[in-house]
Amino acid sequence: MADRVVTAGGIDKASVSFEEWNDWRWQFRNRVRSLDVLARLSNPPSETLADWQEVLRHYPVAITPYYLSLFNPDDGDDPLRMQCFPDSREIHFSLGGVDDPLCEERDMPVPGLIHRYPDRCLAIVTNTCAVYCRHCNRKRLWDKEKSATRQRLQAMIDYVGRTPNLREVIVSGGDPLMMPEATLDWFLGSLKAIPHLEVLRIGSRVPATLPMRITKGLCAMLRKRRPLWLNTQFNHSREVTPESAKACEMLLEAGIPVSNQSVLLKGVNDDYASMRELLYALERISVRPYYLFQCDPVRGTDHFRTDVWRGMEMMEKLWRNVSGLCLPRYVIDSPGGRGKIPLQPFSFLPEKG
Ligand SMILES: *Cc1c(COP(=O)(O)O)cnc(C)c1O
Ligand code: SF4
Repeated sequence: MADRVVTAGGIDKASVSFEEWNDWRWQFRNRVRSLDVLARLSNPPSETLADWQEVLRHYPVAITPYYLSLFNPDDGDDPLRMQCFPDSREIHFSLGGVDDPLCEERDMPVPGLIHRYPDRCLAIVTNTCAVYCRHCNRKRLWDKEKSATRQRLQAMIDYVGRTPNLREVIVSGGDPLMMPEATLDWFLGSLKAIPHLEVLRIGSRVPATLPMRITKGLCAMLRKRRPLWLNTQFNHSREVTPESAKACEMLLEAGIPVSNQSVLLKGVNDDYASMRELLYALERISVRPYYLFQCDPVRGTDHFRTDVWRGMEMMEKLWRNVSGLCLPRYVIDSPGGRGKIPLQPFSFLPEKG
């Protein structure tokens, strides 16, 4: 545990107990959400502060004391800080991103359920997250924190039930592990009861931002719903801590394979050395790198976007140098909602003969 603890109440030297720190509810309650604490932490110049005020009007901030303890808030270039601190560039739409470039809202047969690929669909069950990632491609959804009502979830269950092509549901958000546990249990159980539904998947960033959320009780509940896969999002090797390693270990022991989907982020992981460190760190904790996403042209994320060719060059070098188990698929989710496109490094077959 860090010597200096920063919570919603401000900066505190020592008064947090070990039990509190390791209690996800305590972490959640004490997320830093106000400009006041952020300003005291990093002393931004007054123009920046005014910009931040404007940013917060569009996009809220939440940072768990745990995630805050992993970096130095004074260092504006810290790759972990960049992912969660407000940035004036979020409100300067220089390149004109849009709120929903993937047209997710268009492919919703019922509210909150995106059915784009024939055999699987994606359910947005809450808009709440432990930490709001500044690069999030669903930042359009971050208004008041709320989870889908049972009525809405029931409509999703009914749709899956009457759509026999669907064999997999991806439970996403927001962060589904932030919704009430009993509701999640009921939702997963109801889906599992549909005869043609074979596999469940959860997308959650808590192993990186609130690893204490992976409790024994949660693992016991998820265990009942196997085959269930969990996809998480580590973007930097420094997010792979003993706490997050333990969270992933508990999931793996419960029979839930953990994979990782990173987002390629300028200044965070868009260079060979940083990405290799991240991939090696994931392999060490038995988490399989699955996708590396090109950052979507979402409004308020321009400053994170790296050139595709830079990404390709990095991937090519990785292909040549690192273990195959570490290699994610580099994909771009095509604007206009036409789905994911893999970006493969060029390969040359030897001459036939
Ligand atoms: C990415 C995505 C999926 C899952 O795709 P996989 O390639 O199976 O990981 C499903 N539905 C939507 C709408 C998606 O964006
Ligand atoms: S955890 Fe996922 S949904 Fe939540 S803010 Fe981060 S990227 Fe967006």
